Amino acid sequence: MPQRHHAALALLLFALLSASTIVAQQPTPSPSVDPNDPIARIREEGLKRSQVMQTLSYLSDVIGPRLTGSPNMKRANDWTRDQLTKWGLQNAHLEEWGPFGRGWVLKSFSAEVVEPQSIPLIAFPFAWSPAVDVPLADVVYLDAKDEADLARFKGQLRGKIVMFGSVREVRAHFDALATRLSEKELLALANADDSDDADFAERLESPSLQQLLKSRMFFIKQMQFLKSEGAALIVSPSRGGDGGTIYAEEALVATELDTSSPLAMVRSMFFGKKPYDVNTTSVVPQIVVAVEQYNRLTRMIKAGEKLRMKVSLVSQFSKDAVMGYNTIAEIPGSDKADEIVMIGGHMDSWHTGTGATDNGAGVAAAMEAVRIIQALGLKPRRTIRIGLWSGEEQGLFGSEAYVARHFGKPSGESENDSFLRLVQGGSAKKITRGPEYDKFSAYYNLDNGTGKIRGVYLQGNEAVRSIFRQWLQPFRDLGASTLTASNTGGTDHLSFDAIGLPGFQFIQDEIEYETRTHHSNQDVFDRIQGEDLKQAATIMAAFLYNTAMLDEKLPRKAPGK
Ligand SMILES: [Zn+2]
Repeated sequence: MPQRHHAALALLLFALLSASTIVAQQPTPSPSVDPNDPIARIREEGLKRSQVMQTLSYLSDVIGPRLTGSPNMKRANDWTRDQLTKWGLQNAHLEEWGPFGRGWVLKSFSAEVVEPQSIPLIAFPFAWSPAVDVPLADVVYLDAKDEADLARFKGQLRGKIVMFGSVREVRAHFDALATRLSEKELLALANADDSDDADFAERLESPSLQQLLKSRMFFIKQMQFLKSEGAALIVSPSRGGDGGTIYAEEALVATELDTSSPLAMVRSMFFGKKPYDVNTTSVVPQIVVAVEQYNRLTRMIKAGEKLRMKVSLVSQFSKDAVMGYNTIAEIPGSDKADEIVMIGGHMDSWHTGTGATDNGAGVAAAMEAVRIIQALGLKPRRTIRIGLWSGEEQGLFGSEAYVARHFGKPSGESENDSFLRLVQGGSAKKITRGPEYDKFSAYYNLDNGTGKIRGVYLQGNEAVRSIFRQWLQPFRDLGASTLTASNTGGTDHLSFDAIGLPGFQFIQDEIEYETRTHHSNQDVFDRIQGEDLKQAATIMAAFLYNTAMLDEKLPRKAPGK
């Protein structure tokens, strides 16, 4: 961690150059900050005395990747609870949402081509891949065009290493990998309509989606074939990225599909068997290789070379399902202490990077937001509660269970209805209320990487627009001023939104999220932009504090919206 070395060096120089003793610096508010203006004080604390990067470094560098159900994940639960306690938050504890499924730890891994020449590979196992030891095996490229074509591999794959996946063209990056939202893009967001995708069931009939389903079906057929033919290991090209960036999520299971209707089929694709299910035993060991190397190996095979590979993958599963936890802590309110304002992000990550941008950044910013309020001794009227979730990557498990227990859950939905709602967004038509439903004001989430906050997605709740407009006013100079009626999905605010509670995700600059870090081996601390994260944490603290101080709870949407 280079910053530490710089700090140590600076301190040493200071000691050598000055005869005076070094006294620890006390944070003193600059004279320009009005002590009666809490938002100005939040800004001062968040931008000048930030600890967000220290928090994130511990989470990502020291604890490391935090796959749901892994020992690192539990360590992150414990560490965040203890850290929040140290900062003076109350009632810090872990709350169970599990049991999750099988815990998985990668103990050691190496993969290389040894014949006809040595090619050490840039590669990672997929999460929950079973262990395998292949001292030396022939490599086969499964380049079947369709189901009939698959027959020519019958009886050819037992004990072999099988390359599975199409060659992907690699192009030079003439455009920057990192981007910020332009004024034009922000304007488009500001002018966007409330985007609902309500015609998803109809769109299922569209030719492009039908084509997608067909190729997906063929893919699943091939997975089943690989399993039944006894392939020793599947090698896939990274689905995105190049130049050493590899994307990897969970190992694929050859799911049985429900073909009773297009909707049921898509649902079964999403909610089929998972490699972490306790009763899943049919997973072929799977690794992913850098695209340039994968492409080269296919070209060598086509040129008639006989490739042989050596792979050692040591992974460990827990015998039974492990418990999943969220970390919860509070700053108690005063005259409205029984009402709640929440903030959070998800702690779980994928396994090849260190989960710095997805979603260490959101966790560190949410923690920093409550630290700022606590450090300033601000006395919120409502109770402020932080929720650091796990199981987000597998389907918002942690936040969904938490919301169900405390606030409520959708009721009376068919499986297809609830799947449609998940795909299209929006809240359920009917809900069963939980004990704290009437006490809840709002939840704020950050989960789109390292980029600074540019505004807020209103999530179909127009009634909050004028309130948020006021709250963003003091942060216009930091680039945060856009409010959009368009919605965003894919993360934990949806668990709140599903039962019509105000749950929001901020608009963030993209930086390198989709081009480099999101679920990749490059999701690491060095790809974090410190100034962006400080800005985000500061604005989150202001929103949290403002929500806690309002006379009323934030307005809610109409049911089913
Ligand atoms: Zn995420």
